[in-house]
Amino acid sequence: MGKITGIAASSGRVAGRAFRIGPAAVKNPVDNLTESNCLNTANDEHFLEAYTTVHNRLATHARDNAIFAAHLEILEDLKERIQIQIMDENRDAVTAVRNTCEEVCALFAGIEDDYLRARSDDIVDICEQLIAALTSKTENPFADMPSGSIILADNLLPSDTLMIDLSKLAGIALKKGSINSHLAILAKNNAIPLVLAVGDGLDEISEGNMIVVDGDKGQIISNPDTALVQELTHLRTIPEKTDPAPAITEDGEHIEVYANAGSFFDVEKAISRGAEGIGLLRTEFIFMQGTRFPDEDEQYTIYSECAKTCKNKPLTIRTLDIGADKQLPYYSIDPEENPAFGLRGIRFSLAFPDIFKVQLRAVLRAAVHGNIRLMFPMITSVAEYNNACIVLENCKQELQKEGKPFAKTLSPGIMIETPASVFLADELAPIVAFFSIGTNDLTQYVLAVDRENPYSENACDSFHPAVIKSLTRVAEAAKIYGTEVSVCGEMASDPQATPILLNLGIRKLSVTSLSIPSIKEKIRKQVIKPPLS
Ligand code: PEP
Ligand code: MG
Repeated sequence: MGKITGIAASSGRVAGRAFRIGPAAVKNPVDNLTESNCLNTANDEHFLEAYTTVHNRLATHARDNAIFAAHLEILEDLKERIQIQIMDENRDAVTAVRNTCEEVCALFAGIEDDYLRARSDDIVDICEQLIAALTSKTENPFADMPSGSIILADNLLPSDTLMIDLSKLAGIALKKGSINSHLAILAKNNAIPLVLAVGDGLDEISEGNMIVVDGDKGQIISNPDTALVQELTHLRTIPEKTDPAPAITEDGEHIEVYANAGSFFDVEKAISRGAEGIGLLRTEFIFMQGTRFPDEDEQYTIYSECAKTCKNKPLTIRTLDIGADKQLPYYSIDPEENPAFGLRGIRFSLAFPDIFKVQLRAVLRAAVHGNIRLMFPMITSVAEYNNACIVLENCKQELQKEGKPFAKTLSPGIMIETPASVFLADELAPIVAFFSIGTNDLTQYVLAVDRENPYSENACDSFHPAVIKSLTRVAEAAKIYGTEVSVCGEMASDPQATPILLNLGIRKLSVTSLSIPSIKEKIRKQVIKPPLS
C-alpha cells in the first residue's frame, strides 16, 4: 500500500477504480493560446465548427420549409460580421456572436416596417443556435465513466460536475484545488469524498487501478489491500442522517439551523434532513445547468417549486453571483486579470440590468407561493444596495402594470463578504432586511488570500483574528439596529466555530445540509455567555 497526502476537503472513505480526466478535457483549448493571432485563429476555427453544425442542420430542413431557408440565408449573411469581430476586434467566438446579434438587432429596431422589424427574432434564434453549438462540449469526458469510479484530475470546475453521473461516482482526487472552492462545497453537499492538492504524486496512479480516497484524513491509498477494499463499499453511500428537532442550547436559546443549496434537489434534501429554512440558494448553480440564460418563466417555475418544497419555511434566494470560479458555460466575460476582484456578484447584475431584471421579476412572482427572501451578493456600499433596490422597485412597478401577481413587500437583505461591507455595517444595518455573513469570501478579501489557491490553504483561515474581529463588528452593528444576522459561509458548518459564533451573538447558521445533525448536536451542548454589550 502506498499513501499520497493531500488536503481533506469532503469527508468519507471509499474504494474505487481510478478514472483519469486529462487537463484538456476540462479546459477550453482556446484558453491555452497566448499569442493573440493564434488566439484569433483558434477562435475563428471554433466559430467555423459551430457555423458548420448549424448550417448543416438548417440546410437539411431548408429544402421543404421556407422559414428555415430564410434562416439559412440570414446565417450566411451573419458569418462575415462575426468573423470580423473575431479577427479584427479580438473577440472570443461567443462574444463575437453576441455582439453581432446586438448590432444587427439594433439595425432592425430602427426599421419602420413592422414585418421587417420582427425579423430580429430570427436573428436572435440563429445566434442562440450558434452559441449553443459553441458552448456545448462536443464530448462529455465523463460519459464512459464506469460505476464505482474515482475521478483523478488536475482540477475540476463546478460546471464540470454537471456532466458527471453521480450514481457512478465513488470519490474525487485532484492535483490542485482548494478547500474553499465551489467544487469542494458541491462535493460536501453531495457527500462525495474529496481529497485535493495531492500534487504530482497523482500521476503515479494508473487508469483503472483500485485506490482508496480518504476524505477524512486527506489521503489517497494506492494498491490498498483486499481487506481494506472489502471494508469500503465500491459505491458511495450517502449517510442519510436527519435531525428535524430544533437546536436549543443547554441554557434554552433556540439557534436556527438553515441550509445552503444550489438546486431544487438540494432544497428537497436539506428540508428532509431537518433544515429550518434555506439560508442561501446559490442561483448561479441553477444558471450553470442550461445552455443559455434561463428566461423569466423558467426561473419563476424553479423558484416557486423550491418555495413550495420549503412549505412555509424561509427560502433565501441570492441573486446571481457569477465570476471568478463560477462561470456560466454559455457566457464569457471578457478575460480579467483578477477575476475574484472583477465583474461578479451585484456588480455584474447592476452592469447588466436586463439579466438582473429577469431574475428579480421571477423571484417577485415566485414569492407569492411561499416564504421567499431575497439577498444581494458582494455588496460594497450603500449606493450599490440602493441601486439594486431601484431596479427591484422598477420590476415591481412593471409587474403591477402588467397585472401579474407578485410579493409587494419583498425587501432584500445582503451578504456581508467584503471588507467594505464590514466597515459600513453600521450604515447598512438600518436599511437592509438582514445580514448574512459569507465567511468564504470575507476571509479571502480580509486576508488577501485566494480561496481557490491550494498553496494558501493554511493562510485562508476563517479563525484568523482579523476575520473574527470583522464578524464582531458586524454582529455589534446588527445588534444596535435590531437587524437579523446569520452566517452562511463554510465556517457555519464547522462545529469548532459554533461556540465562537454563538458568543458573538449570532443566532442563525446556514450550513451544508449534511452537517445539519452535527451542528445541531454541537449547539445543544453550548451554554451561551451573554453576548457582547
Ligand atoms: C461566502 O462567500 O461565504 C458565500 C457563502 O458565498 P459563495 O461561497 O457562494 O461565494
Ligand atoms: Mg461569496
